[in-house]
Amino acid sequence: MPDLTPNVMLSAADVQTRITALAGEISRDYPPNEDLHLVAILKGAFLFLGDLIRVMDRNVTIDFMAVSSYAKGTTSSGEVRMVKDLDSGLEGRNVIIVEDIVDTGLTLAYLQEILRARSPKTLRTACLLSKPSRRKIDVKVEYIGFTIEDRFVVGYGLDYAEKYRNLPYIGVLNE
Ligand code: 5GP
Repeated sequence: MPDLTPNVMLSAADVQTRITALAGEISRDYPPNEDLHLVAILKGAFLFLGDLIRVMDRNVTIDFMAVSSYAKGTTSSGEVRMVKDLDSGLEGRNVIIVEDIVDTGLTLAYLQEILRARSPKTLRTACLLSKPSRRKIDVKVEYIGFTIEDRFVVGYGLDYAEKYRNLPYIGVLNE
């Protein structure tokens, strides 16, 4: 059984500072008069979305999609399934997928493919964390918060068996 208190990998302050910088990068990339439509992937990205939009200085709209790629535990099944679709269409919109972490890349590759088919004006991806050493597919992620080594992380939206999502930092469970 993992320990109850994960070790801190990225503190709450580290996370907030980086998100503010990411919001700046995103702002600079789009003309100021254009609205952005942020699509967060549940459940892991809900805090990232909340903190990101609060430091974005323009009109944004949000929507949610849920996919399931991991069973309970820490290994990927490699299979992606849509559990909840978006409430509104994407045609002609500047869409940014907001995801917690890119690991093998299979989830994001699937999401990008189905969202691109809905004819957004632009489609980009923002991921708080990336584990490049685990990549199985070459997926494009324009905005990455932190590149991390191959450790199973929890906190700040990320779970282990549905727990730890409420931690304000990114942590590693003790083995
Ligand atoms: P991928 O399809 O890129 O392999 O996996 C993406 C999904 O796997 C993420 O959205 C996340 O739900 C889950 N995942 C990947 N690595 C981790 C991790 O280190 N910790 C947690 N809690 N989930 C992870």
